[in-house]
Amino acid sequence: MKHPIDERSYKDPVCGMVVSRLTAIAEAEFQSKTYYFCAPECRDAFLADPQQYLHLHRQHGLKAKLPMS
Ligand SMILES: [Zn+2]
Repeated sequence: MKHPIDERSYKDPVCGMVVSRLTAIAEAEFQSKTYYFCAPECRDAFLADPQQYLHLHRQHGLKAKLPMS
């Protein structure tokens, strides 16, 4: 039986990317839960306004810092 605890996948709440504890670049604790992020920028964005990312599910109209092409 395998229990790949350290390879469990988490969803970066900011950008939606799936990361694991091994691949996550950054992590943050909020309300006793640990969240994992693909980049420090995602963690910073999350910590700046955690509610926005936990309550809203990638709604349109969010001011995302995406490069406009
Ligand atoms: Zn991310």
